[in-house]
Order: sequence, then C-alpha cells, then structure tokens
Amino acid sequence: MCAITAAARGRKVLVLERANKVGKKILMSGGGRCNFTNLHITPDRFISANPHFCKSALSRFTQWDFIDRVEKHGVEYFEKETVNGLSGQLFCRESSKLIVAMLMDECLKAGVEIRLNCEIVNLVHREGCWSIGAGGETSTQPGRATGDGFRLTTNQGVFTSAALVVAAGGLSVPSLGGSAIGYELAERFGLRTLPTRAGLVPFTLTDTMKDVCGRLSGISTEVQLATSSQGFREDLLFTHRGLSGPAALQLSSYWSPGEHIHANLLPDQQVPELLLEWKQQNPKTLLRTQLDRLLPRKLVRELENLYWPDLAETSLAEWPNARLESASRQLQAWPIKPAGTEGYRTAEVTLGGIDTRELSSKTMESAISGLFFIGEILDVTGHLGGFNFQWAWSSGFVAGQSV
Ligand SMILES: Cc1cc2nc3c(=O)[nH]c(=O)nc-3n(C[C@H](O)[C@H](O)[C@H](O)COP(=O)(O)OP(=O)(O)OC[C@H]3O[C@@H](n4cnc5c(N)ncnc54)[C@H](O)[C@@H]3O)c2cc1C
Repeated sequence: MCAITAAARGRKVLVLERANKVGKKILMSGGGRCNFTNLHITPDRFISANPHFCKSALSRFTQWDFIDRVEKHGVEYFEKETVNGLSGQLFCRESSKLIVAMLMDECLKAGVEIRLNCEIVNLVHREGCWSIGAGGETSTQPGRATGDGFRLTTNQGVFTSAALVVAAGGLSVPSLGGSAIGYELAERFGLRTLPTRAGLVPFTLTDTMKDVCGRLSGISTEVQLATSSQGFREDLLFTHRGLSGPAALQLSSYWSPGEHIHANLLPDQQVPELLLEWKQQNPKTLLRTQLDRLLPRKLVRELENLYWPDLAETSLAEWPNARLESASRQLQAWPIKPAGTEGYRTAEVTLGGIDTRELSSKTMESAISGLFFIGEILDVTGHLGGFNFQWAWSSGFVAGQSV
C-alpha cells in the first residue's frame, strides 16, 4: 500500500522482499479468503501504549477507502455472519489471491519495482549502521557515510535511497515471513521498542484441563470469556492443546501469564435464577438433562465430572440450594488457568514493537529523517476481525503520501 501510494506520487519505489513471493500472510489469512478489513473500524479496537496514535492514519485511509479499491477491482466480498448477527468482518468471496492480485496490479500500474528472494546484508546511514553477520547475528560495523540517504547492501546488489520504509512485520509465524529485522534495525538507530509478545493466539493448558480440552476437541460454544480487565463474547473452540476460536484469540491479546480467565458458558441466562426455576418446575430431572438443552452434551459431562460428580444422578429436587449456587458460579464463571499460549508459531500478530513515541502519527516517519516504519512492526495491534490488515493499509498509505 505504501509503495503504491508513493509511486503514484511519482516517487521511484523499490520493494525488497526476502520471501519467494509477496503477501504470504494475505494469502493464508481468513482461511484463504482474507478478512481484509472490518466495517466497524474504531481506534478502541487497537491495543497500544498510546491509544491515540492510530487515529490519524485510520481516519485518512479508512475501511471505506480500501473497500472502494476492492470494488473497483471487481473483487467480490461478503460480511461474515455470527450468531449475534453481522460481524463487520469482510472476506473475499472467492480467494485471498484476489487481494494480492489487486495490490500487484496497482504496483505494476504505478511503476513499483519488486525484488523477491532479497536478503538485506547491511544498511548504512549517517545516524547508524546495521549489518547481518555470517551467522545471522547483528553487529555494528564501520560504514561509509552516505550523506542523508540510506545505502543497503543485499544479495542482489547495493541500493541507495533518500528514504527507507521498514514494513517487515512482526515475529508471528516465521514460516510466513515473521522476523525481528525491523525491531533490530530500529534499535540500531537508537529508536525505542516496547517488549513484544504473541497476540491473537490459542491458549495452552496442562494437567486435568488439558485432558478435558482434548476430550472436547473440535467442540465450539458461544461464551463470554474474560480476564479481570477485558471480555469478549465470541465462540470458544476446544482443541487438543487447549483453547482456541475467536473468544480465546481475542482474549489472548489482553492476558498476562499466570492470570486466570473465566468463561461464562450461558451468557444469555441469569443462571442462579434459571437453576432454581428448573428445580421448582422440573424437580424430577437431572441437572445435565436441563443443561443438555443449552450446551454441547460432551461439555456438560465434563462439567459434571469436574464439579458435581456426587450429584450427577440426583434429581434437582434433592439438590441443596448451596450446591445449585456453586454450580451456577461454575457455569457463569468457569475458572481456567492457561499454562501459556502457542506463541509466535501460530500467533496472528505481535503485540508491542516500535514505540509510537518515536514516530509521527501523520507520516510514520521516525526522528531519523527519511526512516519510516509501518504496519504490524509498530506498537499498534488490532483485534481479530480485519483490524490488523486495515492498520497495515492505513499506516502504509500515510507513509506513502509523505515518503
Ligand atoms: C495466519 C495468519 C492469518 C491472519 N489473518 C488475518 C486476517 O484475516 N485479517 C487481518 O486483519 N489480519 C490477519 N492477520 C494479521 C496480518 O496478516 C498482519 O497484521 C499483516 O500482514 C501485517 O502487515 P505488515 O505488512 O506489517 O507485515 P507482513 O504482512 O508480515 O509483511 C512483512 C513482509 O516483510 C518481509 N520480511 C521480513 N523480514 C524481511 C527481511 N529481513 N528482508 C526483506 N523482507 C523481509 C516478510 O517476508 C513479509 O513479506 C493474520 C496473520 C496470520 C499469521
């Protein structure tokens, strides 16, 4: 997006891409259909130490601007439906390939040159020098000053430029291009970075809960999943390793190691009142018979084994009210302590990154004149649902207008 915008302004643009093809994450995203934006983009759907930073770029290149391009290129799309209605999430009807094709087409028309399989070996600028040693480690080496510009040595030759835009993404999914190069480069130039961690990532569990999840693997149910500070009402998916699905992915971006999470398995119900009502109106039935009408049967069996095995065959009339109350707490705030997350191997995004205080929110330019950073590499992380691509488009656009 940055290359297209800059080239359309008459700038000579060269994109250096390490991978053997462009847009690998776009291709893999949204199950191959790329959730390219969301109809409800608002700054509060982004996590950052400075929540105001994203506002300018998001308002100057909005979801409607991207949708406009998608429509101009004849890419058909649809809004994902959820149990609660429409989600605002827009997906390609056919394939993610059409988004890459659209961007490539615009690059071609604007005259952008793209080099694939391009490894950056060394970067020299009067403010700093960065290079990759034979083992891949970074080191400072004496470099030749290049006036105000940048001199990049790559496996495909040496390139000089007045400006350099770093759009190397975060650490997530190394097989799709995730790398630390952008953070290292920023640090080498004396720019501050904030600690990174995996976001939008499944939780892992150990011991009893891992066994429970394993037995429930493949089952999904709508919950309100929360930490002490944040909650999401979405589907929760049990897997052999732990918890996934939109509810777990969203919450993972707010979770701190060691913290408990709580699942409200019946978010539409006043559970204490409901259980008492069942006791009064259906005194001869078992709790599981009633719960089976509202929750997956296998899940009900697991809860029964965990929390009320002694009352499993006891009709509701015989249940002490205190036990009904504790069952309602377990159903409304099922406490789960994740052991961790699956980490960068499967995380959709990297939280943290380049401190936004180092950049202009209007242009994405850093204090080093001509050095820009855009996209996921910044400490701006969207919720699940097309927000991260929109941040990539918006930040890329504003940098492209100024570079
Ligand atoms: C599996 C998966 C699914 C996703 N699905 C969605 C979704 O549906 N909707 C959504 O909004 N977001 C989604 N995301 C998040 C989204 O893909 C990213 O936030 C977005 O791609 C970030 O864009 P970017 O340009 O900053 O970085 P990237 O898209 O990661 O691009 C960085 C590029 O830099 C290249 N690079 C890295 N190191 C070097 C180097 N040393 N030299 C040269 N090039 C280098 C990489 O090869 C890559 O092409 C998904 C992420 C993953 C992993």
